[in-house]
Amino acid sequence: MSVGLLAMLLVVGTSPAVEDQGAGNLERFEFRETHMGSEFKLLIYCTDRELASSAARSAFARIAFLDATLSDYKPDSELMRLSDQAGGPAVPVSPELFEVLARARSLSERTDGAFEPTINPVVKLWRRARRNRELPRPSQLKEALERVGWRDLVLNAEAQTVRLARPGMRLDVGGIAKGYASDAALEVLREAGISRALVAGAGDIVASEPPPGRSGWIVGIASLDAEEGATRFLSLRCQAVSTSGDTERFVEIDGVRYSHIVDPRTGLGLTDRSSVTVVAPDGTTSDSLATAISVLGPETGLELAEQTEGVEALIVTVGDGQNRYRVDQTSGFEALLARPLEQEEPVTSLGPPES
Ligand code: ADP
Ligand code: MG
Repeated sequence: MSVGLLAMLLVVGTSPAVEDQGAGNLERFEFRETHMGSEFKLLIYCTDRELASSAARSAFARIAFLDATLSDYKPDSELMRLSDQAGGPAVPVSPELFEVLARARSLSERTDGAFEPTINPVVKLWRRARRNRELPRPSQLKEALERVGWRDLVLNAEAQTVRLARPGMRLDVGGIAKGYASDAALEVLREAGISRALVAGAGDIVASEPPPGRSGWIVGIASLDAEEGATRFLSLRCQAVSTSGDTERFVEIDGVRYSHIVDPRTGLGLTDRSSVTVVAPDGTTSDSLATAISVLGPETGLELAEQTEGVEALIVTVGDGQNRYRVDQTSGFEALLARPLEQEEPVTSLGPPES
């Protein structure tokens, strides 16, 4: 699959040295494993290799557990078993599944359903479309859309139960799960005593304190031109950043490119080519907001970002003719950019492989 429109994030370095007492003898360790269909990478500063690798093992185990809980590919995941009971009574669920669904549903409410955690019947049609290179039939889309609707996802916080009120409904937390898993992995590292770390699940990155002697983790936002590489660099500490776009998963049929993000109003994969980057206090927020803003488009999307505490966003949309790209950003986005000096000393790169 070709990558024309790049929306990937790259960790390219660290910001310049600052006075940092008590950070002596810290070494940098790096670990990678594949979960949730993506490569997760952990960058850890720690005095001790043994501690770093045992903490990394625990963090990956946590991600693997969340994959087994939240996957909509694994038929026996807790999420799938819950979907199988749609139309039935309320079902007690794990705290993790409850929290993800609660976060997802509250974003649905805020976005009037642009973020839609019950979109799975439609997403499944588009997965088949990608395999067969054939658009879903309108009748199929109509039937699938009738089974979608976050208002019928009924959560009871006290009882920790979930009910899918209509038969045939199915959950899909693909737009929030990687950010949630990255947050959880960072928390595991923190509990193991590691305060300077970064977790990257492909386009979802969360960071705790910066590397020793530095003021932030430098994360590059790749340009929309595949050849160009990163053109903007963020300096982040105790923050998360996510990108959404049609970078990796899309299908092109009759010259139209459909994203794996679906507009719940139409059931169609997004065709506006854009890349949305969201910085937030945590990865659950940045991941889900990036997906939601992709659906909402630059005007409404930017408004939503401006109204959300601790959130900044950059939206790059491909136009035609003279103005190839339209760039929209929140008022505070510029302040997150690293100064040119900070962009030196590349240490690594992150993000989906270029193909
Ligand atoms: P990526 O997986 O590339 O990081 P996103 O975080 O934007 O991308 O998530 C895309 C996934 O979210 C889709 O594969 C699908 O599972 C799910 N999804 C698609 N459309 C929506 C939507 N409107 N609201 C919520 N989730 C969606
Ligand atoms: Mg997302």
